[in-house]
Order: sequence, then C-alpha cells, then structure tokens
Amino acid sequence: MNIIEFITYFPDEESCEIFLKTYRENSGIYCKTCKCFPKQYWYSGSKFFECSKCRRRTSLKAGTVVEASNLSLHIWFTAFLLMSATKKGFSCLEFQRQLGLKRYETAFNLMHKIRAIMGKRDDLYLLKGMVEYDEAYVEKATKKVVQERLKRGKGSQKQAIVAVASESTPLEDPLSGKMSSHCGFLKMKALGDVTRESVEEFVKESIDSKSALFTDKNAAYVNLEKMVEQHIKVKSTSESTNGALNWVHTAISNLKKNLLGIYHMVSEKYLQNYLNEFTYKLNRRYFGEKLFNRLIIASVYPYVQHCE
Ligand SMILES: [Zn+2]
Repeated sequence: MNIIEFITYFPDEESCEIFLKTYRENSGIYCKTCKCFPKQYWYSGSKFFECSKCRRRTSLKAGTVVEASNLSLHIWFTAFLLMSATKKGFSCLEFQRQLGLKRYETAFNLMHKIRAIMGKRDDLYLLKGMVEYDEAYVEKATKKVVQERLKRGKGSQKQAIVAVASESTPLEDPLSGKMSSHCGFLKMKALGDVTRESVEEFVKESIDSKSALFTDKNAAYVNLEKMVEQHIKVKSTSESTNGALNWVHTAISNLKKNLLGIYHMVSEKYLQNYLNEFTYKLNRRYFGEKLFNRLIIASVYPYVQHCE
C-alpha cells in the first residue's frame, strides 16, 4: 500500500477499527475459556466480541501488539506504513516528527515493538537447502566512561558479534552454463561470543537439520557437522570465502552500511531489534508495497493459536 492508498483506506480511527475487526473475524477469534474459535457476536458500542458459547468477552485489541498501548490504532497503522515505506528505515527522531508524537520515548518504544514483531514473524521460518554462515562484527555504542577504559587495539570489546546465515540456491545460466547462486531467506542474531555453545544454539534454532552448511574454518564450528546433513568448511582466503560465502558477506556489508547510515551506532541492548528490521525487509525485498499489508497482519495478530 502506498501513501495515497493509505490515506484513502485509513483516514481515521474508525476505519482502522473496522479493518482490525474484519481481519480478526476472518481469521477466527480465540476464546480463552472455550480454548477454541466459537462464533462471536460483535458489540460495536463498547468494541468487543462476545463468545456465543460461554459469553466471555474479548476486546477488539486483545491478543494483538496494540493491546496494552495508549496510542490510537490510527497512529499504529501510520507507524506500520512508515516502517515499511523505505528500504533503509527511519531514524527515531524522523519517525517521531512524522507521526507528530510529543515524546521521543514514545516513538522509540513504538519502533522497537514493531521491530520485535518483525523478529517474531521471521522466527517462524527455518533456513533450508544450501546455507551460508559467518559472523559479523559491528560497532556498538558504549558509554564514554567505558570507552575510555577500553584500550586501543582491543577493538573486539567495542564491537558486537552478529551471527549471519543465508540460504544460497545454486543457479545455472542455461546459455553459458555458468554457475551462480540466488540469495534466499536470511537470519541475523546478536551473539554474546563466538563459542561452540552460542554458534550451535544459533544453528539449532535457525537452520533445518537437512541443510548443507557452508562456513569458513573456526574451532567453534567443530560440532556443526553433527547438526546438519553436510558441513562444508571453506578455506579462509578472501577468494574462496567470497565465492562460497558470497551472500552472507554481502548481507554483512549492507548491514554495516545500514546501521552506520541511519543509526550511527546502536546499543547492544537493542541490536537484535535493528537486526530484526533489517532482515525482515531483506527477506521481503520483492514484496514492494505489499510489505505494509504483511506487516499490519503480522502486527495486529501475531499469535499462533490452536484449538485444544
Ligand atoms: Zn467461549
């Protein structure tokens, strides 16, 4: 959805409420008492659903990311539009200005809640097929006192570690027979350190066990062959890693440019949220204007519910 369409479809609070009500009705409203999806009646005055079996009431916003928020749905929807409007993303100050929010903290919290939702959505997928893996080192914001304590040369303490994995599908040009690869889904996760435990935890929760995993050589990767179908270790020369780890290295260099260009330096506390936004957009780079629709749906109804 572009800005003109947004203004047409969502001119006010009521239009956002109608969208949310309709979307929730179509996807089924979960009753916490019946632990199922019975038929629900809508009370437009007080804006809640009532279960036809047990009469339990569910508010319009219950079970969505907007549930505990004091902000209007119209602000939330406009925030989704802004967050999905550009590939690079907004700075928090710009976001606050565009939404006309009085407090910087409100804008900051709103952006991070949306980034958390983006991460939650991407957590539902596992990387499959041929997968490249490496770590990125990104500058992190540290307090001045801490900065002074860090001696020169100990750069690693000023840098945060990010695990990066990317699906890499081999492609053959039918005319020339030349091989190349296509970048599929990506995942990024802030790591405390590069130890066997932390790398293995990332691989376990991010990569399908039937995959073929490409990495360079590192003592921390010694057990990875037991976790995937095949573990291919590439010699750590710039030529060999650029070939086999092409997509993770491209993603890492884009990530660094993105973080530096918009946020300058990010604190380690919020790094995962910035990574969520970056990968969410990268994973949906062909969606164009549909990104808003995907985001709105992920945000208003993020919880996977099952009948018990
Ligand atoms: Zn019920």
